[in-house]
Amino acid sequence: MDLFEYQARDLFAKHGVPVLAGEVIDTPEAAREVTERLGGKSVVKAQVKTGGRGKAGGVKLADSPADAVEKAGQILGMDIKGHTVHKVMLAEMAPEIAEEYYVSFLLDRTNRTFLSIASVEGGVEIEEVAATRPEAVAKTPIDPNEGVTREKAQEIVEAAKFPTEVAGKIADILVTLWETFIKEDALLVEVNPLAKVASGDVLALDGKVSLDANAEFRQPEHEALEDKAAANPLEAAAKAKGLNYVKLDGQVGIIGNGAGLVMSTLDVVAYAGEKHAGVKPANFLDIGGGASAEVMANGLEIILGDSDVKSVFVNVFGGITACDEVAKGIVQALALLKEKGEDVTKPLVVRLDGNNAELGRQILSDANHPLVQRVDTMDGAADKAAELAAAK
Ligand code: GDP
Ligand code: MN
Repeated sequence: MDLFEYQARDLFAKHGVPVLAGEVIDTPEAAREVTERLGGKSVVKAQVKTGGRGKAGGVKLADSPADAVEKAGQILGMDIKGHTVHKVMLAEMAPEIAEEYYVSFLLDRTNRTFLSIASVEGGVEIEEVAATRPEAVAKTPIDPNEGVTREKAQEIVEAAKFPTEVAGKIADILVTLWETFIKEDALLVEVNPLAKVASGDVLALDGKVSLDANAEFRQPEHEALEDKAAANPLEAAAKAKGLNYVKLDGQVGIIGNGAGLVMSTLDVVAYAGEKHAGVKPANFLDIGGGASAEVMANGLEIILGDSDVKSVFVNVFGGITACDEVAKGIVQALALLKEKGEDVTKPLVVRLDGNNAELGRQILSDANHPLVQRVDTMDGAADKAAELAAAK
């Protein structure tokens, strides 16, 4: 989960990384009072989860409260690389910036380690620097068992050739930034610019943090950082029910058990779709191993709630999951939706195989629901689902 800059700033502050005061607003007029509180000047910064805001005009300096109102008005509603600006952060204006550095910690999946990246040439051109002069960017692997001690921080500072007069301060900051990285279960913490200001102080003027969603269970405070407004409502509903649902942009809804089967179901549906007006998977939902009738019912309700779905393919290979439970779930889900007054009109193609397949198929036959068709092979069922979606 990527955070907004103001949320990153809060986490930095919590772990002792030096930042300037900042407040978030969502109307231009609110900039007046906040800027007064920040000392009469402020930096007005678009809060969007994408880089390059400065270059896109999303970071402006305001030299009075009235100027801040005007600049907030220019930035709110702006489109930055497809992201609409709904919030701006007003930050205390940094004293004159003398130098801009770059530092980050991240999970380096390729090398199966953590990595520090640091450069004395930070700022808005860092990508350009990294691409054209990689020698100006120091990469230092971090042993997860050792972490970033003061010694390790010194090593990074030397590798990046930070000037002597800021070396000690930057080493201290690296230790607190590593604390942020580990304590918050982050996948990335980045500061750009890490600025040396006229007074000689070193400050984190912009931050980017990405948190590891797999660590949610031990980070109860992170839930509050989610951008609920931006989340897909069906993805949120699935998550609340402990289901893995992913939205795609085709027409066939897909439910399966187990990630491997679900992935191959996507492939066979896309392949079958080539013969049927190019229809594609609309989404997928993994009900997991050992799914009960209730889980199946929850899953079906979510898939049918996606207005892009024209047909649904339920592909279950019973292992721990028993096919009769899945069949019961389908029948229950359809009854439940009818009870709720929801008008289900989308055809369901069901393929059941494996554990208790015969019993499951029998349950579906007995229910004899007009929208449900059984096809007993995976390819046959994919073809049928694609055909039905194309016909709608
Ligand atoms: P980004 O473009 O999304 O990375 O946005 P940043 O927050 O990094 O801002 C871009 C640039 O604006 C920085 O590299 C700084 O040069 C400048 N900037 C950011 N904050 C301040 C500040 O408080 N004072 C001054 N003078 N410049 C700032
Ligand atoms: Mn930046």
